[in-house]
Amino acid sequence: MSDDTQNLSRRDVMRLGATGVAAASVSNVPAMADEKAAPNKLPKRRYGRTGMEISWLIGASDWPKEIVPRAVAAGVNYWHKAQVWRAGTLPPVLKAQPRESYYLECVVDRVNGDHMHGRIDEEQHYQFVKKRVAEAGVGYYDVFKFHFGYHSVEEAKQNPGMVRAFERLKKEGLVKHLAISQHHYNSIGGDMAWEIMDYLADHQPYEATQFFYTFGDRKEVAEWIDVAKKKDIGTIAMKTMGGVGRASHDPKFRKLLADPNYQGSAPAAAMVKWLKSNPSLTAAVIATRNFDQFRENMGAATTLAMGPQDHEALTLLAGYNKGLTCVLCAQCVSACPEHIGISDIFRYERYARDYHDIERARKEYAALTRNGTSCVGCGDCLSTCSQEIDIAAKLKEVHRLLA
Ligand code: SF4
Ligand code: SF4
Repeated sequence: MSDDTQNLSRRDVMRLGATGVAAASVSNVPAMADEKAAPNKLPKRRYGRTGMEISWLIGASDWPKEIVPRAVAAGVNYWHKAQVWRAGTLPPVLKAQPRESYYLECVVDRVNGDHMHGRIDEEQHYQFVKKRVAEAGVGYYDVFKFHFGYHSVEEAKQNPGMVRAFERLKKEGLVKHLAISQHHYNSIGGDMAWEIMDYLADHQPYEATQFFYTFGDRKEVAEWIDVAKKKDIGTIAMKTMGGVGRASHDPKFRKLLADPNYQGSAPAAAMVKWLKSNPSLTAAVIATRNFDQFRENMGAATTLAMGPQDHEALTLLAGYNKGLTCVLCAQCVSACPEHIGISDIFRYERYARDYHDIERARKEYAALTRNGTSCVGCGDCLSTCSQEIDIAAKLKEVHRLLA
């Protein structure tokens, strides 16, 4: 979110927060008795078969470095994409602690190409992690996470390179647990994330998973979270803030939200509370660009229960998102005869519009072999979109934004 959005968020919290909190306390919705939560401290949940107790909000290496000490003080004990830190850039607040008091995750990408076109290569993945451990001086990574995941169940069956690299590293004490960050690959004839994760849970040594999940998402994602809990597979939700950034920035939405019906709820905090109200979900990773966002997310995650006004605010947001914001469900992708990665393109649009990271959005968009200009306007995708997005028109608009 931009500074403007955050000023709004801060003002809104100041103007509306007291009534919102009061409303929550009189709403007959009991404050959740958070598992293992000290007052004002983040709760921790078991990260599936890893057995690790990780903070409900996890941190990420791309958070501003000034936030890291505050996050550690608030109870964040798991750091996503920690492989980007070297010995000189590992946050001092982590260096100062015993190594076993925090968890570092190393994400491992395909080689010789991106997540669509790159390949799995046991030796290169092994060497990559080994090198990063040495450069960071951290001794080991707690989690080896296959970034972007398999294209299909079939690929997972046929190509054991990632698992073998993990097993070699584990034997040497350089990694401890195996996890996956899984995308949908129906645009290239592959499988949906939950199909692949379900297979891995039953047939391979994966212990935890990460995937897209936001309010209004497809029911299969929520079902996967419950299945994963039963199978003791950890779950981290990502890309959770569907439409929050643009809605908070839009004067029309802000005006609607000022209605007493919403009693001070703000969409970002409501989203955090909604996610956390799912006891089967281990944790969430939320893009955080400044202190205001951090405070808002942390406040919602530590002290506030989901109230009726939050449901109202999320329903308002869902209405606002209709026709506008892609929830990355990938339902449309298999309907497209041009094999356009529609949900990838709209994910980049979300980087630009919701996270205000236009640079990253343009970089990712530029790497596509088929972009918005490949759309022939046939309309085959239209009926598949639960968000009622005019996909062909939006592809043109996004191309203008990101090309
Ligand atoms: S309208 Fe465009 S995006 Fe939709 S199915 Fe046709 S070619 Fe694909
Ligand atoms: S455009 Fe619609 S159907 Fe396609 S991924 Fe987005 S929300 Fe799903």
